[in-house]
Amino acid sequence: MKKVFSVITNNEEETMLFAQKLAKTVGKGVVFTLKGDLGAGKTHFVKGFVKGLGSDELVTSPTFTLLNVYEGGRCPVYHFDMYRLSSLEEAEDLGFEEYFNLETLDGIVFVEWPERVEGLIKCPHIEIDLQSLEGNKRKIIVGAEDDSTINSK
Ligand code: ADP
Ligand code: MG
Repeated sequence: MKKVFSVITNNEEETMLFAQKLAKTVGKGVVFTLKGDLGAGKTHFVKGFVKGLGSDELVTSPTFTLLNVYEGGRCPVYHFDMYRLSSLEEAEDLGFEEYFNLETLDGIVFVEWPERVEGLIKCPHIEIDLQSLEGNKRKIIVGAEDDSTINSK
């Protein structure tokens, strides 16, 4: 991953506010992966982002549903949690490939635990890593796999 920038947040609210601001700069046709341990703040990041898009839908962890869709903002948000999957094949059987085509994507995609479905996300995407530091501090690293990603679409 090529690191683009990083920020430190001191609590849940700051993480959500950062994501909320980021949302104002992003349009449809963008895929984000979210990496980080359990409790790092991946779902709270999506919560802030969805708010920033202007949606007041409730953001919850898609641990059991695998995919939550939030409407009501500038564009739909597709929020995946791949934690319960264990292979690319499982994701393909569920038809998830269609979300990772930037030509046809009509919203913004977030993928928690992309490591579980290695090989699924072949399109350019932005990678967000959340690292737990001491207490409630988190380091949020934003990066892309190559220079072209940030400018694509
Ligand atoms: P994940 O989806 O990565 O498992 P969640 O977003 O569900 O994580 O939960 C993050 C937990 O960590 C919440 O209980 C939240 O209140 C807490 N938390 C504490 N500090 C922060 C922070 N700086 N940013 C995000 N969440 C934080
Ligand atoms: Mg989560």
